[in-house]
Amino acid sequence: MGRITLDKVTKSFGDVNVIPPLDLTIEDGEFVVFVGPSGCGKSTLLRLIAGLEDVSSGEIRIDGTDATNLPPAKRGLAMVFQSYALYPHMSVRKNIAFPLKMAGLSQQEQDDRVNRAAEVLNLKDYIDRRPGQLSGGQRQRVAIGRAIVREPSAFLFDEPLSNLDAALRVGMRLEISELHNRLETTMIYVTHDQVEAMTMADKIVVLRAGNIEQVGSPLELYRTPRNLFVAGFIGSPK
Ligand code: ADP
Ligand code: MG
Repeated sequence: MGRITLDKVTKSFGDVNVIPPLDLTIEDGEFVVFVGPSGCGKSTLLRLIAGLEDVSSGEIRIDGTDATNLPPAKRGLAMVFQSYALYPHMSVRKNIAFPLKMAGLSQQEQDDRVNRAAEVLNLKDYIDRRPGQLSGGQRQRVAIGRAIVREPSAFLFDEPLSNLDAALRVGMRLEISELHNRLETTMIYVTHDQVEAMTMADKIVVLRAGNIEQVGSPLELYRTPRNLFVAGFIGSPK
């Protein structure tokens, strides 16, 4: 579970076409990074997959099902928002359980899933604290926990580490990669940071103005960039 295909997907806002016809296949269990300069359409593409925006035309399939017109909650995906989206008045436990409560799961099932997520993310020590009492990295783990408990077929991340300082970003990068190894669930990760793309991805999708310039493994893009844009982007890490 977790195979996502985009077939001739387009998106326009008014008269402005942001995503020209785009085809892409994401395999089950892959860690795919969308990378490209600011404004190239990374977030839009992720939001189309999540169902937070409607496509202008084309089709999105998730695990063989036409998901093009499904609302976000029916797609079986979980978007990881930046940590500031946590509820400040709720404990970590309640923040993580919140989507399950909304989905009407039993208290026992909520507790079981929260406890499993707390174990995987190593956040048991601060499960009864509130977000304001946590470090940036701890808060980001809670935000990921809130996605994990939904047991999605894919995780969608939109620049989740951009609020964190450089040292913490390195640690969280490793933690997210480790989580991917453990869960073996599809992850789509948006960033404008070349280092994140090169170190985390199984497959990198390089975007420019909504177009896919190249798709390949980090090594493929490094060795055989298709054009100067890809070469410049991959070859000049910050
Ligand atoms: P990125 O995430 O790569 O920085 P975005 O996907 O946020 O890029 O934006 C791509 C383009 O689409 C930008 O030109 C942006 O201004 C435009 N855009 C994004 N969302 C909207 C919207 N809701 N209404 C109008 N234009 C939008
Ligand atoms: Mg963006």
